[in-house]
Amino acid sequence: LLSAYAERIAIANVEWGMMLVLRDVTKEKELDLKQSEFVSIVSHELRTPLSSIMGFTELLMRRTLDGPRQKKYLETIHSETVRLAELIDDILEIQKGEDVSQGTFKRRLDLKRLIFDMKPMFDLASHLHRIRVSFEEGDYRMTASEEKMKQLFTNLIMNAIKYSPDGGTIKIHGQVKDQFISLMVEDEGIGIPEKALPFIFDKFYRADNSDTRKIGGTGLGLAICQMIVMDHGGTITVQSEEGHGSVFTVQFSIETIAE
Ligand code: ADP
Repeated sequence: LLSAYAERIAIANVEWGMMLVLRDVTKEKELDLKQSEFVSIVSHELRTPLSSIMGFTELLMRRTLDGPRQKKYLETIHSETVRLAELIDDILEIQKGEDVSQGTFKRRLDLKRLIFDMKPMFDLASHLHRIRVSFEEGDYRMTASEEKMKQLFTNLIMNAIKYSPDGGTIKIHGQVKDQFISLMVEDEGIGIPEKALPFIFDKFYRADNSDTRKIGGTGLGLAICQMIVMDHGGTITVQSEEGHGSVFTVQFSIETIAE
């Protein structure tokens, strides 16, 4: 990232002299701490898979390795490339969500139908898990972005699958009560340590449960979920017990739902 930036400045210098450089410095000053912090975390996160890709490709170029070892290194390069692509997608999603000028297109959407439409995709995602969907009586229509809602429930259900490595049932339950539409995603997985609960919606935060079990991820999925829910005037909460599972609850107030 930095070298691409430096290159741009160098080219700009040749073509337009000092003016552009001065403008960039001013722009840098305008960055608040949070954003510069974000950039530094992003650079660090991107650098980790990149270093590994660089290391392994250099090794493969320098040495002739036997078949199995070559395959193992290529697999590592591939999985790190996939991780890099996921990171870039998530980072772009976060940036899009924070850009208030990029309003999302919302229309009347039936959340119950959306979940049932997505169910075959969830079933395909894992052979180890059973996905159960249940909805109580009620009207699940709200004004929402279909694309964002799909992303919200995909993130929650993929996490439920990912953090239940031994399988089990994942329940998606809907309820309309006390002026709220609620959707719960419940798993029987590894659960979240109590001390981690206040941080799991923070960008790049990953609890010990993922580190110790070597479950991959970017730490951005839940931050994206929270941004989507907030953009729809709702809340997202979690209840969890280590070793037993987690329940994520998304709630939208009926009052904020336009006719
Ligand atoms: P990640 O890419 O790490 O999965 P998320 O933002 O989706 O990032 O989640 C943040 C952290 O919250 C995860 O690293 C994991 O520690 C924890 N977590 C999220 N969902 C679950 C779940 N269903 N069960 C257990 N832990 C979870």
